[in-house]
Amino acid sequence: MKIQEADAKSLLLAQGLPVPPWKVARTPTEVEAAAGTFLDKGASRVVVKAQVLVGGRGKAGGVKLASSAAEARDVGSKILGMDIKGITVKKVLVGAAADIVKEYYLGAIIDRSISRITLMASAEGGVEIEEVARQNPGAIHRVSADPLLGLLAFQARALGLAIGLRDPLLNPFVTIALGLFATMKANDADLVEVNPLAIVAETSSDGSSTQRLVCLDAKMTIDDSGLARHPGLGALRDLDEEDPTDAQARKLGINFIHLDGTIGCMVNGAGLAMTTMDLVKRYGGEPANFLDVGGGARRDTVAGAMELILADPKVEAILVNIFGGITRGDEVAAGLIEARAQQTRDVPMVVRIVGTNATQAARLLTEASFETATSLDEAAEKAVALSKGAAR
Ligand code: GDP
Ligand code: MN
Repeated sequence: MKIQEADAKSLLLAQGLPVPPWKVARTPTEVEAAAGTFLDKGASRVVVKAQVLVGGRGKAGGVKLASSAAEARDVGSKILGMDIKGITVKKVLVGAAADIVKEYYLGAIIDRSISRITLMASAEGGVEIEEVARQNPGAIHRVSADPLLGLLAFQARALGLAIGLRDPLLNPFVTIALGLFATMKANDADLVEVNPLAIVAETSSDGSSTQRLVCLDAKMTIDDSGLARHPGLGALRDLDEEDPTDAQARKLGINFIHLDGTIGCMVNGAGLAMTTMDLVKRYGGEPANFLDVGGGARRDTVAGAMELILADPKVEAILVNIFGGITRGDEVAAGLIEARAQQTRDVPMVVRIVGTNATQAARLLTEASFETATSLDEAAEKAVALSKGAAR
């Protein structure tokens, strides 16, 4: 689950990281009011940032500075409603504009190849890290935390030194790196990214200027499987931006992932779903999705899953592959019959149901004149042939 910058910043603050104050605004009037409070407190400029769950907002024109509340309102009215990579901006973050001296990148990810949380840092901050990885991979430095010991201060210090930080900013960097690791652990996050982590210049009331490190941007994704352990975090899901099919799949309790092919797959069990996709490919087709209806799926789940598959206009044939254990074959068959009765688009379908109540399922399907198959190979071959027929 991706969360918005403002929410990610709250989670960073909770771990004691330095994040400048902000307000979230949904209308130009709210932007103006928020800007007013920061300007009244002495800010010379404010920054207005689109809150959308994609990177590169700056480049897309979704991050702008303003010198007065009126200008902030104007900038806000331009950003609100703007389209950034296909997403309409519905809210913005408003804060005192930082006086940036230098931008760094600091991120934490789960490195699955070594089963550890890895921190990455680069002196080439501000730009997208994927770009740095392509053009200058040597500019990205990494340390990995031991699962038992956690991230140790000396590792964080080495990372800070590697990106060129020295006293008096090195110790603050160590605190930030440890805090980032703590944020990963505390929230079951699989990514926390601060880009830029910036050195900013601040002028105190006596006119002297100091420099400090602050988190100017925050990007975070939470492991969906960890959400049950954090009742508060579910509320951070931004329904404004969730793909309607994903939302529907979540409601039905179905694992559903969109792919690029033309053969819709409905399978029970993740392993069987993978195998089914492999066989579709072997017979020369491309799966349109990964779909696991889960164990013990009832007819309404099956009908709902069918709707999700059909919602994809690229789907030219459907392959249903059910291995009945807890799942009852006749229940699935009833769901398929129900789904077809409501179906608005005529897409050919091949059904293979084996296991619990397969005989009853076969009778129901034959009565309803469904195309069936007994083996998975046969089912996959037929589905691919049907999809090619549909394409002609
Ligand atoms: P992103 O483009 O979606 O990653 O959004 P960011 O929050 O990282 O902002 C993009 C860029 O805008 C940053 O790299 C900065 O260069 C600039 N920026 C963001 N906040 C401020 C600010 O408070 N002051 C100044 N001067 N620039 C900022
Ligand atoms: Mn950024």
